[in-house]
Amino acid sequence: MSDKNDSLQEKLRALEAVFLQKLPSKIDEITDALFRMQKDPADKEPIVELHRHLHTMAGSAGTFGFADLGTQARVFEGKLKPYLEGAAWPAAELQSYVNEVHDFFSTALLRQDKPINGIAETTQEKEKYMGDPRLIYLVDEDELQNKAITAQLEHFGYEVVLIQHLKSMAVAVGTRRPDVIVIELSFPEGKIAGVEEIARVEQIERLRIPTIFVSKSNSFESRLLAVRANGDGYFTKPVDVVALTERIDAILTHDESKGYRILIIDDDTVTSKYYGAILRDAGMNVRLLNDPTEILSVMTDFRPELLLMDIYMPVCSGVELSRIIRQDNSYVDVPIVFLSSEDDLSKQLEAVRAGADDFITKPVASEYLISSLATRAERYRSLRALIMRDGLTGLYNHTAIKEQLASEILQAGRNGSPLALAMIDLDNFKQINDSYGHPAGDQVLRTLARLLRQRLRRSDIVGRYGGEEFAVIFPDTTATIARRVLDQVRIAFAKIQQHSEELSFSVTFSGGVADLELTTDADELFDVADAAMYVSKQSGRNRITLA
Ligand code: GH3
Ligand code: MG
Ligand code: MG
Repeated sequence: MSDKNDSLQEKLRALEAVFLQKLPSKIDEITDALFRMQKDPADKEPIVELHRHLHTMAGSAGTFGFADLGTQARVFEGKLKPYLEGAAWPAAELQSYVNEVHDFFSTALLRQDKPINGIAETTQEKEKYMGDPRLIYLVDEDELQNKAITAQLEHFGYEVVLIQHLKSMAVAVGTRRPDVIVIELSFPEGKIAGVEEIARVEQIERLRIPTIFVSKSNSFESRLLAVRANGDGYFTKPVDVVALTERIDAILTHDESKGYRILIIDDDTVTSKYYGAILRDAGMNVRLLNDPTEILSVMTDFRPELLLMDIYMPVCSGVELSRIIRQDNSYVDVPIVFLSSEDDLSKQLEAVRAGADDFITKPVASEYLISSLATRAERYRSLRALIMRDGLTGLYNHTAIKEQLASEILQAGRNGSPLALAMIDLDNFKQINDSYGHPAGDQVLRTLARLLRQRLRRSDIVGRYGGEEFAVIFPDTTATIARRVLDQVRIAFAKIQQHSEELSFSVTFSGGVADLELTTDADELFDVADAAMYVSKQSGRNRITLA
């Protein structure tokens, strides 16, 4: 990947090594505090010290892949809390706490199964694919509805904490910050108590948490209140849980999806680096190209969403370069913006004829540069989405996923990295349609699409290959690992309660996985993965087969 990522990886690895090196002395410190607690139970000092060590350990161990150590430290830390706050510690309980903590840490170094040079595979995989479950606070007294919402959100990998009493919310937020709050507008405390409490908590905590309001009322006044409270959504009861999940997904992926891919073409490396830094700082994904002759391979490789180029370059002019780019049908609409000191009108007209979209004259204020490029890239992205995306699921369509596979295979070949492809087909889907209706079937397709997007890495590419068939490209992944990951998705999917108008049911899928070890030809790879999928069908469905 990018240089930035490499050096980040290096830094992380170095930090990890330091953590390992210091681990024995940290464990010594813990043991020492335990010893002093035991010696003088009235002394608060060692408790404070132990708490600090456990707290640090809980935070850092998890970060460096020692999930077990981190989780256990967090548990021990929790048990310490009441005594930290002054509660008296009965002698027998103190002794058993000390023994437990001591036993755990004295064997921690022996038990650690982590390779020195990297994160233990299992934890790394888990973190890479599942991420941290994102935390939702559901603040409502309506138990029945809470159950339905919780079940659905948990299937999509969210962690849901139910808060039945409005006044418990402030403490909960203070202890653990949620990613989204879903809250009822009115409580016994008052008709708009939900809104008021959100405002109060945000003021105390000095932060804004994305908030979705739910209410029985569909009145303009209620909606206005929610808008004034900066609500990120408003749902009337009974809440459409699928729509609510979609809203939460959208809120949480909003910021992450903004990394427009910008290609800067300029023979002057210093200038391109300078503008590159500005755009990167604004969250864009920037590639610099100093040699225009490499343009075509960079276009396939990087798939820029906007080109920013200099008009004057030694090998060929920017105008000529845009003609070359526009000759390729796939790039007729990618925005090209010229960055130049050129204020000669006829030169600009010539560039427009060659397909330029805009001119920016150097020097340019960085805010102006960022906003005008972002606007164009955004428009291009949404237009592309219309062409490349499947209307029902929002996933890449058949043509797009094939294009993606071809370009990912090239990339994998260059980097010598693995790549896996999975084909997925819903089981007995015709029967599902027949029993529950076509709209319910469509909803199942959307549910699977969202589950795939949510449960896989952002770099994994998901497409709808045909009616009830999906394809997933796993860059940088072997078939064995892709199969394991997909199997987790399979299990989660089978557990989801699907709904038709009056009935609920569940659906399964079968899959086949292949990787570049078998073939590096895109069409053949589809074929072998598809054949493996049929083996799954023949051997009973609801399973994933390796090609
Ligand atoms: P198998 O387990 O062998 O895959 O059985 P199946 O019934 O899933 O396979 P078959 O290929 O016989 O049927 C596929 C069904 O998928 C038929 C079609 O009605 C349904 N289907 C395809 N596209 C859509 C769609 O966009 N929406 C809905 N609701 N159904 C679709
Ligand atoms: Mg099929
Ligand atoms: Mg099928």
